[in-house]
Amino acid sequence: MASGSGSLMWFRKGLRIHDNPALQQAAKESTCVYPVFVIDPYFMEPDPNAFSPGSSRAGLNRIRFLLESLVDLDSSLRQLGSRLLVLKGDPGEVIIRCLKEWEVKRLCFEYDTDPYYQALDIKVKNYASAAGIEVFSPVSHTLFDSADIIQKNGGRPPLSYQSFLKLAGQPSWASSPLSTTLSWLPPVGDVGTCEISNVPTVKELGYEEIGQDELTPFKGGESEALKRLRESIRDKEWVANFEKPKGDPSAFLKPATTVLSPYLKFGCLSSRYFYQCLTDVYKNVKRHTSPPVSLVGQLLWRDFFYTVGFGTPNFDHMKGNRICKQIPWNDDDELLAAWREARTGYPWIDAIMVQLRKWGWMHHLARHCVACFLTRGDLFVHWEKGRDVFERLLIDSDWAINNGNWLWLSCSSFFYQYNRIYSPITFGKKYDPNGNYIRHFLPILKDMPKEYIYEPWTAPPSIQAKAKCIIGKDYPKPVVCHDSAIKECKRKLAEAYALNKRLDGSVTEEDLKKLR
Ligand code: FAD
Repeated sequence: MASGSGSLMWFRKGLRIHDNPALQQAAKESTCVYPVFVIDPYFMEPDPNAFSPGSSRAGLNRIRFLLESLVDLDSSLRQLGSRLLVLKGDPGEVIIRCLKEWEVKRLCFEYDTDPYYQALDIKVKNYASAAGIEVFSPVSHTLFDSADIIQKNGGRPPLSYQSFLKLAGQPSWASSPLSTTLSWLPPVGDVGTCEISNVPTVKELGYEEIGQDELTPFKGGESEALKRLRESIRDKEWVANFEKPKGDPSAFLKPATTVLSPYLKFGCLSSRYFYQCLTDVYKNVKRHTSPPVSLVGQLLWRDFFYTVGFGTPNFDHMKGNRICKQIPWNDDDELLAAWREARTGYPWIDAIMVQLRKWGWMHHLARHCVACFLTRGDLFVHWEKGRDVFERLLIDSDWAINNGNWLWLSCSSFFYQYNRIYSPITFGKKYDPNGNYIRHFLPILKDMPKEYIYEPWTAPPSIQAKAKCIIGKDYPKPVVCHDSAIKECKRKLAEAYALNKRLDGSVTEEDLKKLR
């Protein structure tokens, strides 16, 4: 048995004080608590070759958002008489070294279903159990325990939202108050020879500062999350009438949805607390929308994808993924680069991709449009490639939700109506006929008359000259012709679907080659 009387609280996500059962347990009957965050080179090592600043796995905006969240967490911990201990290195090795050196009796951390953490946690848990250290790892990142739902469904994840809802029912904790406050924490114990630092700045991590123009407007941290939550639910009618997919994807001065996703991603905001706040609003209004379109319904989508992702081997791949249609996507790196770097020549698509790079967040329907365009709509590029770009650049980048939505948008799983394609020209125009969104994110087109803003290549040369934007020189010509591209994409998808049906899903690489 471990001889010490302290606890180690290992923060990874769950960067909050409210509704944090792992932190509460760490504080219980402990003479000291070590609140630890490990800077993991896997996510944070600068990559000078990446197409935009950041590491190979995370854009600088998300790294900055994380650091801001850590600063905020440290400040909250200090108000409770503690502080955040920041260490660097492989998290498994660092945590094991700390457990050894600090002789703690208990290790607490929030349960995580992401494959990366599943592998890491096995290593740390194995060490802890051999050393007689108690491990407490509660489910508090999601509304439900994905493993419970899968078990209720006979060992397989439910594959439709409705069947998920039936199995899930009401969350067990929904009617009892969640712990929202902690008034005190035991002090931090002696840290011995472990190298502890304060929360580093982006510069201290080895990154160059980026210009103001490239900075996301969303600041990380629990304080910001709670403020944003309060602002979001202040207008009870808005909450009661929330209905997705209604809402303007081009609204950027005041986004049409909550923009709480980055806070949920890092656990600066508890999804359970968010859920309770929403159900409190519902109790005080006459009528409200329901899942799947309501705000509670959005949180349930989150849990749905977590559950399917957790219970599906190779969920993040086409190959070996039993719920994913096998489709002969192309590997056209030039088309991929044009999409990623906002050079497709379709202003609606390019503006969304600039918003992704600069803000790390876009409206759900905007994500639909660019994901559809890259895959089954126009370019026929593999959804895994688009997934990788989103995974790196989104500040709310989330393994289960991102993969789930890419499977959906590419008609590889969940959604199969491949004839329904978002037009890169008319879809955005419905919401924003003047093209204000495009003018904001693509200033090269700011003087293009509204008649041409969605199709600038159709503007006569004199108009292009007057708008100081010559198509093919200042802004690219379309990389594909949408009308012929959709026909080709639909044809390929029809063939691939027929093959998947005929071979009952057991499609091989050879079969796909024949369709290319
Ligand atoms: P709101 O509409 O205010 O919803 C509240 C919360 O519900 C969100 O914060 C989010 O946690 C959850 N939610 C909303 N929509 C979905 C959805 N479709 N699936 C699962 N959960 C949802 N969301 C991520 O959080 N991380 C991702 O990496 C991510 N990748 C995506 C990739 C693609 C191709 C697409 C089409 C969507 C993706 N989404 C992702 C889902 C969705 O677009 C965002 O969650 C949403 O736009 C975030 O904005 P919001 O917080 O204002 O959402």
